[in-house]
Amino acid sequence: MKIAILGGGFSGLACAFDASNKHDVVVYERSSVLGGLASGFFQPHWEWPVERAYHHLFANDTDIINFARDTGFNGIYFSTPTTASLFEVSGKYETTPFDTPADLLRFRHLDVLSKLRTATILAALKLGPNIPIYERMGAHEFMTKTTGERSWNILWEQLFRKKFGKYAENILMSFLWARIHKRTKRLGYIRGGFQTFINHIEKALNDKKVHINKKTQILSIKQNRGEYEAFIDQSGQRTKEKFDAIVSTLPSPILPKVTKSLFDGDYLGRFSKLRYLNALALLLETKQPILDDIYWLNICTPSIPMMLIGQHTNFVDKKHYGGNHLSYIGYYLEASDPLVSMKKEELIKALWPYLEKINPKNKENKILKSFSFYGPYAQPLFEKDFLKYKPDFVTPKKNFYVANLDMTYPYDRGTNYAVKLGRIAASLV
Ligand SMILES: Cc1cc2nc3c(=O)[nH]c(=O)nc-3n(C[C@H](O)[C@H](O)[C@H](O)COP(=O)(O)OP(=O)(O)OC[C@H]3O[C@@H](n4cnc5c(N)ncnc54)[C@H](O)[C@@H]3O)c2cc1C
Repeated sequence: MKIAILGGGFSGLACAFDASNKHDVVVYERSSVLGGLASGFFQPHWEWPVERAYHHLFANDTDIINFARDTGFNGIYFSTPTTASLFEVSGKYETTPFDTPADLLRFRHLDVLSKLRTATILAALKLGPNIPIYERMGAHEFMTKTTGERSWNILWEQLFRKKFGKYAENILMSFLWARIHKRTKRLGYIRGGFQTFINHIEKALNDKKVHINKKTQILSIKQNRGEYEAFIDQSGQRTKEKFDAIVSTLPSPILPKVTKSLFDGDYLGRFSKLRYLNALALLLETKQPILDDIYWLNICTPSIPMMLIGQHTNFVDKKHYGGNHLSYIGYYLEASDPLVSMKKEELIKALWPYLEKINPKNKENKILKSFSFYGPYAQPLFEKDFLKYKPDFVTPKKNFYVANLDMTYPYDRGTNYAVKLGRIAASLV
């Protein structure tokens, strides 16, 4: 069969790798680079490219680890960088590790009973399965009932608010179960960054005779006498190609635009029910680190507007970036949020005073370069109705399959799941 794979992120690439064992495969990617949300970029004074938005792996991300092995890539490595959360107590910021039961027991801002209730529930989430009640109740409701209001307000509310905005109270408990169940203290990175792995996959696909079309946007997919027709814009030139099967890895909001004359309104209507926030990541290249020795800092106070600071060079050696430090500042926002339309310089000006408050040494720090990345539809919202509308691999049209970001549920989106979905889709074609 001749198969078109729509999208050249990890889902599309993993699908192409397996599907090309049996079929003729063509990948279409709108951007000039492969890798989608996990893609990276390079600067002449750096030795390694870096991701446009912070990326790491967990020690139990076995799907991507196995995929790397299958493609002959051995650059994934693990270490245990310091992670912490920033709380505000009586107007003062306090940075505390928050990873282990001992961290919870040492935590000063919860009474003993709240700590015991929280520890019991966290143990059940860490060790137990995803049970039906987690799919019926919101995390807010479940955690408030089981661990108490104070525990929710102090430990979780800001994390949910910053990741899901006004939808924070709607997010299913199964999402929190997956976060806690899956999390490992050991984190993985890739020698040469994720883009080096993506380039390796691209080469492996070339060797397997997969046709990869970058800078090529799929405009629409139609069906004509049993065959699929892909209408394509390739660097401004419009063409049409015929296929026996299609695998779409496009984000759910894009799929209905591309397939509106293929599927009926009932099927496509489901996709409009799924909601997302957009990711905004700033990457700062500085002389000194923004955070002294912490890699990952969750910001658990409403008085600092960002969600996290990821001091990449407290995880990956700065020697790979010309001896300079790289740090990410992350937000999840609605498209209408004023921060989205701010110029990068304005954004930095607005956030810098917070970085000075978090670490006074930043008063002497200097930004050498900065980069911003906006990822639309980057954070699916696993809300209470999500399960009614979640896409499936199989669609009403024979030989048209979907494998996209929404289908990682209950796990938060990640390259590990993108690979898993792509490989499942390939096994179905
Ligand atoms: C801020 C942020 C932080 C993250 N952190 C991590 C992390 O630490 N670890 C981790 O493993 N994962 C992380 N992820 C998630 C990870 O990046 C994604 O889950 C994964 O890359 C998704 O791959 P995908 O192929 O499913 O989708 P995508 O990467 O979105 O790929 C879809 C592709 O389709 C292309 N496309 C769209 N429309 C068209 C069209 N009409 N025609 C042709 N092509 C089109 C897009 O350009 C894109 O390349 C993070 C994501 C974000 C946004």
